[in-house]
Amino acid sequence: MRLAYQYRLLPTSSQQATLNRWLDMLRHQYNWMLADRFDWWESNRCAVNSCPLVCSIAQAREQPEYYGQKRSLVGLKQDRPWYKEIHSQVLQDMVKRVKLAFDRYLKGDCNGKKSGKPRFKGANRYHSFTYPQPSIDWIDGNKIELPKIGAVKVVWHRPLPEGFEVKSAILTHKADGWYVTLSLQDESVPEQTVDVVPDWDNSIGIDMGLEYFVADSEGDLIDYPRHLRAAESKQALLQQKRELRPKGSVAGARLNQRIARLHQKIARQRYQFHCETANLLLSKADVIFTEDLNVANMMKRCKPKQDTDGTFLPNGQAAKSGLNKSFADAGIGQFVNQILPFKAEKAGKQTIKVNPTGTSQHCCICLNRVPKELSDRWHSCSYCGNQMPRDTNSGVLIKKVGLGLASLKKARKPKGLEKPALYA
Ligand SMILES: [Zn+2]
Repeated sequence: MRLAYQYRLLPTSSQQATLNRWLDMLRHQYNWMLADRFDWWESNRCAVNSCPLVCSIAQAREQPEYYGQKRSLVGLKQDRPWYKEIHSQVLQDMVKRVKLAFDRYLKGDCNGKKSGKPRFKGANRYHSFTYPQPSIDWIDGNKIELPKIGAVKVVWHRPLPEGFEVKSAILTHKADGWYVTLSLQDESVPEQTVDVVPDWDNSIGIDMGLEYFVADSEGDLIDYPRHLRAAESKQALLQQKRELRPKGSVAGARLNQRIARLHQKIARQRYQFHCETANLLLSKADVIFTEDLNVANMMKRCKPKQDTDGTFLPNGQAAKSGLNKSFADAGIGQFVNQILPFKAEKAGKQTIKVNPTGTSQHCCICLNRVPKELSDRWHSCSYCGNQMPRDTNSGVLIKKVGLGLASLKKARKPKGLEKPALYA
């Protein structure tokens, strides 16, 4: 079983200066190696469909790859002796990051999903470095002995689990200071296996939304504390103040720090709410059915509208922006895709995603189609007389679809209409 435990570090001011210096040097070298790969790639490729008649001959040199770039670290330390200060394995791990960024761009990850073009990292985009081979012996009382940095004080807010081996230590710079993340592994502890067969009694269906964060099939509605919205006025005030300070000034930097701390607080509040909600739901059932939502698509911008002479017409983006901000504030994607499955796995329970098609437009009792606008928040069925909140109706339907008790079809697009007014 592999776990990650994160602890706060309390470095002395000289240790802090060393950590910041290392981070800066690693970032520069990361950017240089990335540029080296791009250079070779740009000068050694030629588009098949637009081959130029005249082109410069590329400099004959080996393609920069992982091992070659690793070997180049020897030369780097000769040319720039200050790089000798950094622990060799930390430096090598930076080369690995370049390789991973480039591989994910060209080949994709283990699932074949490609990432975007790797970008050069500014000072606010490179936050961490890794010791790839730490040892449990580094931990000494309330301190951790980091090679070439020294003994750094740690806030051990919870004990490390017994019998685990430390596989890597990542040092991360956050808005409020430095943290160490220890990746722990114990081969003797098996991964949790799930052998629960979902039935009506041991499962619930949940509908995610913005009016209520979660509406479950038991009829419970969980409201979400709008953390970002609550802090918006404070954030605006700080941003206004910062605008008045000259760029690059100490006062401006302090305000930037305060804004960063505010965002960190909001993210932590949201994370805690998600964890508590996940635990609450998992205490009710062994299997949780959720909608298979594509949150990134839900948060897309509206398409621009143009009339015949090319003038742009109002397309409702202002309202959509507000909706998107609320989506981001609720963090539905983080909850459904990361926290709920992780908590379920740890508890030996299961989450299953179901197709959300039709779950908001049908009745959960008689399965007839009861069309609703987005503003209709109450489900009232004229066929069977079922009355309940719209989201609870969806929660029950999601459970039924998950258990295979209902199959819903998408509403057909009415003929002659560009977009149907009511769509599931
Ligand atoms: Zn009905």
